[in-house]
Amino acid sequence: MLRKTLLILAVIFLPLAAQTQTPASPKLVVGVVVDQMRYDFLYRYRDSYSENGFKRLLKEGFSCENTHFNYAPTYTGPGHAAIYTGTTPAVNGIIANDWWDPQWNRRRYVTEDTLPTVKTVGSPEVKVGQHSPRVLMSSTITDELKLAYNFRSEVVGVCLKDRGSILPAGHIADGAYWFDDKTGNWITSTYYNKSGVLPDWVTRFNQQGLPEKYLAQGWKKIEGHEYRQSYDDWKQYEDATYQPLAGDFPYDLNKIKSENKSYKVLRIAPQGTSFTFDFARAAVSQMQLGLDADPDFLCVSLSSTDYCAHQFGIHAEETEDTYLKLDREIGQFVSFLDEKIGRDNYVLFLTADHGGAETPEHLKALNFGVGVFDEDNLEKSLENTLGQYLGMNANLIKYIANQQIWLDWDVIDELEINPSDVASVIAQQLRDSAAVYDVFTRDELMMLPADYPFAPLLRGGIHPKRSGDIIYQLNPGWHSEVPLFGGGGTTHGSTYAYDTHVPLIWFGGPIRPGETFSSVNITDIAPTLAAMLRIMEPNGCTGKVIESVMKR
Ligand SMILES: [Zn+2]
Repeated sequence: MLRKTLLILAVIFLPLAAQTQTPASPKLVVGVVVDQMRYDFLYRYRDSYSENGFKRLLKEGFSCENTHFNYAPTYTGPGHAAIYTGTTPAVNGIIANDWWDPQWNRRRYVTEDTLPTVKTVGSPEVKVGQHSPRVLMSSTITDELKLAYNFRSEVVGVCLKDRGSILPAGHIADGAYWFDDKTGNWITSTYYNKSGVLPDWVTRFNQQGLPEKYLAQGWKKIEGHEYRQSYDDWKQYEDATYQPLAGDFPYDLNKIKSENKSYKVLRIAPQGTSFTFDFARAAVSQMQLGLDADPDFLCVSLSSTDYCAHQFGIHAEETEDTYLKLDREIGQFVSFLDEKIGRDNYVLFLTADHGGAETPEHLKALNFGVGVFDEDNLEKSLENTLGQYLGMNANLIKYIANQQIWLDWDVIDELEINPSDVASVIAQQLRDSAAVYDVFTRDELMMLPADYPFAPLLRGGIHPKRSGDIIYQLNPGWHSEVPLFGGGGTTHGSTYAYDTHVPLIWFGGPIRPGETFSSVNITDIAPTLAAMLRIMEPNGCTGKVIESVMKR
């Protein structure tokens, strides 16, 4: 009787169980982060984009058109960390590309690792591989995937920049690879590869001589293309002496490489994008990503867009050329994934690690009241003012970067100086500058009412143990550094929309075509991936699932 009842129950409930079955996880997740891609670049060149690149992603994928970074400073290290940890620098600790490390008593670079066990793999250059994600204080979605699948899932990071490869790949990746300017090799560190030897497939890839092939092509304009979205007289803003890419089209990349004895120029030219996708394709094939039921994760970040816009700005033909070529590369890469993994078996998301500003020189010529705030010389000038106030030369400032000031608390304690006096002298001088919107100590920042402009974003960028003691906010349109990249170039880092508003497109697998203009934070990407994969979100996650992406 019991057996019969069970049989009847099974007959009744089986179809129901089948209906509510959890959808299969994608076999491969591909994260594509385009360095410094502003939101409007999705549309700025749309008339010239191919049918298979951005246009296909927008047509067949789901676009979150109102995606912003929910903290500042908006730089590459924090951007990649926020995307993959689902939280802000306040929790993941990646407050900038560089900051003052009180233990080292010097500036530290985000992924720099001084442990003697961390060595370069793949190049005789000592420092270029001394990197790891050890500084990242929360887990990544890629870490969580490996933990969830008992390490059967493979995770790999690919980016010309070390930080763009390491931070996405997380703490327990199977590999993270970046570019060595000296040898032209893809390299890694012993953090990932304890044997100290590159995997065979990476060595074989490096032996193909692709950098030489790409440099020999030179950087030429696309034949017949009019570059209508760029200014043909933009060169007036550029610094003609700036190396390595001074001059105009066509650029002789081989000559530049020989003169500088470095492959660095390959980072800036659009061939850097092709070269990165070449390596990503090799990783998919050689690591056999996406072939079995345990989901794998490929993190690809494209840096050439950032190097190019830093040097040339957003109105230059070089930048338009870079995006048109990126568009074609994306088209080819998506076709490769379709063929290799199957359209329904992978999920790809495309976003950026921050946006980019208009060039101040250009805006100035158009009567905007903007300029460049000379952060490089700020320390000297503030020390002078403090010296006059105190009647002695005390050297109270340790470091200034990313609109933050680190004070020397040993000296302040030793000389029994009132810290609030120091803060108010500094604030007074900064407020006198046309560039500065406001200045806060960390305590003052935390006490600001929530509706004070940009207060939540500024707080999201502050880590209690790592950030500077005094924070200042510039007015819209101002740059915080003397352009390192030539006068026509641009930068990023602020709380303003041009730096925070980025594309976010989801594509492949069960993703339905569509778009939303609801507010999405960059920290929402990781929990949305966790929902798709039915795994836990990263351990410091403060983002939320983007429900509209999950609609079936
Ligand atoms: Zn960046």
